[in-house]
This record gives sequence, structure tokens and C-alpha cells, in this order.
Amino acid sequence: MSRALIAAVALLFAHESPAQSTVVFSGVSVIPMDREEVLANQTVIVENGRITHVGAARQAPAGALSVDGRGKFLVPAIAEFHAHVPSGSQAVHAHRTLTLYAMAGVATARGMLGAPLHLALRDSIARGQLLGPRLLTSGPSFNNNTATSPGAVMAMVREQKAAGYDLLKIHPGVPRIAFDSLAATANRLRIPFAGHVPLEIGLDVALTSRYSTIDHLDGLVEAMYAGPQPLTPQVNGFFGLGIVRQLDQSRFDAVVRRVRASGVAMVPTQILMDNYASDATGDALTALPEFRYWVPQQVAAWRTNKNGLVSQPPAPADQRAEFIALRRRFVKALHEAGVPFLLGSDAPQLWNVPGFSAHRELGALVAAGLTPYQALRTGTVNVARFMGEEGRSGIVRTGARADLILLDANPLQDIANTLTIQGVMLNGRWIGPAERERLLNALANP
Ligand SMILES: [Zn+2]
Repeated sequence: MSRALIAAVALLFAHESPAQSTVVFSGVSVIPMDREEVLANQTVIVENGRITHVGAARQAPAGALSVDGRGKFLVPAIAEFHAHVPSGSQAVHAHRTLTLYAMAGVATARGMLGAPLHLALRDSIARGQLLGPRLLTSGPSFNNNTATSPGAVMAMVREQKAAGYDLLKIHPGVPRIAFDSLAATANRLRIPFAGHVPLEIGLDVALTSRYSTIDHLDGLVEAMYAGPQPLTPQVNGFFGLGIVRQLDQSRFDAVVRRVRASGVAMVPTQILMDNYASDATGDALTALPEFRYWVPQQVAAWRTNKNGLVSQPPAPADQRAEFIALRRRFVKALHEAGVPFLLGSDAPQLWNVPGFSAHRELGALVAAGLTPYQALRTGTVNVARFMGEEGRSGIVRTGARADLILLDANPLQDIANTLTIQGVMLNGRWIGPAERERLLNALANP
């Protein structure tokens, strides 16, 4: 796409954002997220995109918009660290995607399949011209078609760094010889790389070559594989579903230790696996309320896909259950060991409606054994620390970026309560119940 066309598309999406410069939440219960605590009856003042007061009632600045927070809970907005923003032939859905992230209280999204359009969208959002989460974006994917030789990957890394992408996206199929050049060049140019762990690379090389994040827990199940070599994608199946009966269970602890020692962060996208392996029909999955906001043809395709998986399962029920149990054991053990976890669900992707699926992922993390507080941290303070913004984002505290969600019910009691959204604030812009409903209704299918 030409630069002019990109600018034109970005402008199409842009609209006036009548940002109130000062907003006061009064009588609200604050969940600051730097400790597991609910601060009752707080006044929170936001001015020009920053939180300027959290505490006792205080005279509202002149011209401030007042939000009655009595009976409600104010939490930091969350991040989606395995996001996708449609591009190319799907670019027409980019605006819907960004709006849904915003309406679900996703204030920061890391796009994992980048295109030039995303650089323009990222900048328009940052300038306040376009409603959406603060974007980080990878460049176009490194895979078996693009990353074919050391020379090809070195050129790609340099081009993506120069174009201003935030990170590189690794897909399956990158051969070892190309990967080594990719990692060396990326580390030299200081551009992070993240995503899948190609079978030919394997977990240990991924860890030592300093992946920024490993997504989907890719490569962990494979690191326990004790069956016939070489392990092929066909035998491995969906993230190792095919090999769960051929694992050396004694390696589990060593895998956890090695991941911990590497410092590499995990973006598990567990909800994707839970849905893939479950017995829920496509009709049941796509009957969840958020699906009416997504592109009808894609919802229909997701429904058909999942109904097909139920009628012709990719593995017997007990094998699928073992796969999910092992992944949950990994989530719990890695988290307990101190491995950094970042919230990511992979949306829009099978059965994941942008924004809302990040909340479903919180539930999947709790199902794996995290407490609601620990799960919420993966989308708030953990992301801030990862981005070098500890105390300045992902937290309700004076001086922090004003990315907030106002909830009807306490998420520390039940993680499902993160979906009881009253309103959202992105970078200081408040979208209250009426405006939120109007924006969501505009996207709803009849
Ligand atoms: Zn993805």
C-alpha cells in the first residue's frame, strides 16, 4: 500500500475525540493493582491523560466532568499482548477491531502481524485522532516463505527496524540457519522478536537467543517430547496436542527452570487452546454476547470450524484433556517460579472477539490456578514492568497514565466481573455507559 493510501485509510478511521481534559470519579472503590487491596470510597481525579489524585474527597477542578463511582470498582485498563489488527484485504475490519479493543477496556495492544497500515494507525491513535488502544506493532511475519536465508532475514530485520516497527514476529517454519542471523541482527539492532518457536529452533535456542516473549507457550510441550525423531508439524499437531502421549514427564521441572532462568516472558493465549480442545460446540461458543459485535461472515466461519472439531475431534477426549491439563500445569508452575506473564489471547482469531477475548483469557488463567488478582496483574502491572513503565501505567496511582475501567462488580471476587464494564478511560478520554453503548450498538449485528 502506498504511503498516501495508508494516510487516507488512517484518516477515514479518524474522528473527532471530544476529550474531556478533567474527569472526577467520586465515591469509587479503587483496585490499584500494586497490592491486593480494595480502597473504599475514593476520589480519583484525571487531568490531561494523567491521574492527579487518588484519595479523600476533594473539590473538583472547575469544568470537570463528574462520574458517580458509588458501588463501582475502578481498575487499571488491561493490555492485549497477542493482538491482531486486520490489514490487506481485511483492512476494512481494522476500525471495528480497534473500537472493540477500546470498548473492552484494552488500553495497550501489541499487534502480532504487522503491516505498513499499522504504523499509521499507531501514530493516529497516539495523536488522539483515532480511538483505539495504544499500539505496539510487529512487522510482517518471518516464516518459511519469507525467512529463507541469512541474507533474506538480515535485510528484513534492517527494513523493519528502519520502518519503525516495534518488534519482529516469528512464525513456524523459520529454518535454523536463517534464525541464527535473525536473532543476531535483531539483538545487534535492538529490535525485539517474539511469537512462535519453530520446531527446528526448539525451546533452548529460543531462550538463549533472547526472545522477547514466547507466545502460546510454543515449544514447551515439544521440549518434553521423547518419541521418534525428527518431530514433524504433522505429528506435533496443534501446539503439541499430537504428542502428549509421547512425553518424558520427568523433564517438566527442568523446562520450568530453564524458562525461569532465561527471563523470557510468556504470553500463553490459553483461551485459544481451551476452546480448541473443549467439547463446546461452535454454536455454543459463538452464542457468547460479544460475538454480535464481530464480522458476521467470520463468526459463521468460526462456528463451522468449531462444529467440525466437535464432530471430528483432532484427538480423543482424554488426550485433549491431558493436553489442557499439562498446559495449565505449565501456566501455574511457571507463574509460581516467577516467570513474567503477559496477558494475550490472540484476537481476532478463532473464537476470539477483539478485546472481550482478553477477558476470557483472564478466566482461562484463573482456571489454570492463578488467583483473580494474579491474572489481572498479567494485563496491568506486569505489562507496565515489561514496557519499562512500572508505576506509570497499569496502575491506579497519582502520576500514572489514565487508562481505566469502571466495573459494576469486584473482579478480585470473581474474575468474570471484569466484563461488568460501565465505562472505560483510554489515555484520559472517558467513554461512559451511554457513549459506550452507542459505539457498541453501531457495530452490533441485527
Ligand atoms: Zn496470533
